[in-house]
Amino acid sequence: MTHSPRIPGTRFLHSPGPTHLPDEVLDAMHRQPIDLMDPRLIDIVAACESGLQRLAGTAAGEVIMYAANGHGAWEVVIENLLPPDSSVLIPGTGHFSDSWALQCEALGRHTVRTPWREGHPIDPQDVEAALREDREHRIQAVFVVHTDTASSVTSDLDALRAAVDRSGHPALFVVDAVASLGAAPLAMDAQRIDLLVGASQKGLMLPPGIGFVIIGAAAAEAAKRNPAPRFYWDWGRRSGRMAYQKFCGTPPLNLLMGMRAGLDLLFQEGVDAVHARHRLLAAAVQAAVQAWSREGAVDFFCPTPAARSVSVTAIRTAAGIDPEAIRTLARERFQVAIAGGLGPLHGRVFRIGHLGDLNAAMILGALGGVEAAMLSLGVPFGRDGLQRAVDVLVAGCAS
Ligand SMILES: *Cc1c(COP(=O)(O)O)cnc(C)c1O
Repeated sequence: MTHSPRIPGTRFLHSPGPTHLPDEVLDAMHRQPIDLMDPRLIDIVAACESGLQRLAGTAAGEVIMYAANGHGAWEVVIENLLPPDSSVLIPGTGHFSDSWALQCEALGRHTVRTPWREGHPIDPQDVEAALREDREHRIQAVFVVHTDTASSVTSDLDALRAAVDRSGHPALFVVDAVASLGAAPLAMDAQRIDLLVGASQKGLMLPPGIGFVIIGAAAAEAAKRNPAPRFYWDWGRRSGRMAYQKFCGTPPLNLLMGMRAGLDLLFQEGVDAVHARHRLLAAAVQAAVQAWSREGAVDFFCPTPAARSVSVTAIRTAAGIDPEAIRTLARERFQVAIAGGLGPLHGRVFRIGHLGDLNAAMILGALGGVEAAMLSLGVPFGRDGLQRAVDVLVAGCAS
């Protein structure tokens, strides 16, 4: 391995997780660990728990955090909620719903899946029909991926909740908000979400390393009834006032310090303002992609504007155009790190992340880097993309 020379300036991080970290978060984490009986630790954990509750819109939902990533939090849900040999309905959203389903099956649970229509959100009618068909109520829960980061499609939680209600089925409504919490509005109590899943490294502006769940009353009851053997992930073992009990061992101290600082930043800006900023930056990216698409070589993966995520935009490339080449050149020559396609979309899309600690200038930098990479590679695209993005930002900042 040769060492690369130092690159002047910043390499922009526009993956949809991990995301750019605020200086305040980095500063907060740059501390010596504290001892596990220090009362300050109790305060830090309490601030993180109440901040996550507030962000997720729940008064009573219990927060349990794990030293884990999002896949760890998925396993938490499976082990606590699903009895051995039981079933779960997982509507198809693409890579992330498939991955969660595989994890369920590997742990001995059965999955019922609805088909994924590429580029489209979950159809609530599919969910209703699958639940109606389950007359014996073997399905314990519906696991919904709110924003599938691989396809950049966001599904309508209210419509899905209504579909579950219409079916008359008692299944719990479980939502993976890993890619949406902190970027898009979520109201766990008002939307009657029984269990919410999150992770640190996306909208929360933290490094990877904390996965968490927020547990509503019905999910807590279901876990108590569930005879599946479990230990480390078990909610029942995570009660008690001391951080050592809450984490089943040593907590990820410095990440918790960072989380408190990051949540403070979101509340200082105002949660509504954070969501509005995400909508504006997403609209700027989408205006650029719309302009780029005129030449036919690149286009939105999600054809429906209303279903496009505020967190990330997946851009498909025409046959013969390698998205990995665009991505690699953008990173290595123009210092803009974007993401590639996951699972079935590898080699078919590239993705621009626009969530977390970002502002208008950073978005323009990212779009400029992608344009420079496409131009270098001879990929045809409408050359007014950056201009259209500026127009959106000017209009949005004036209103
Ligand atoms: C990123 C992501 C995950 C997985 O998180 P990891 O921390 O990478 O394990 C799960 N669900 C969604 C929707 C995600 O975007």
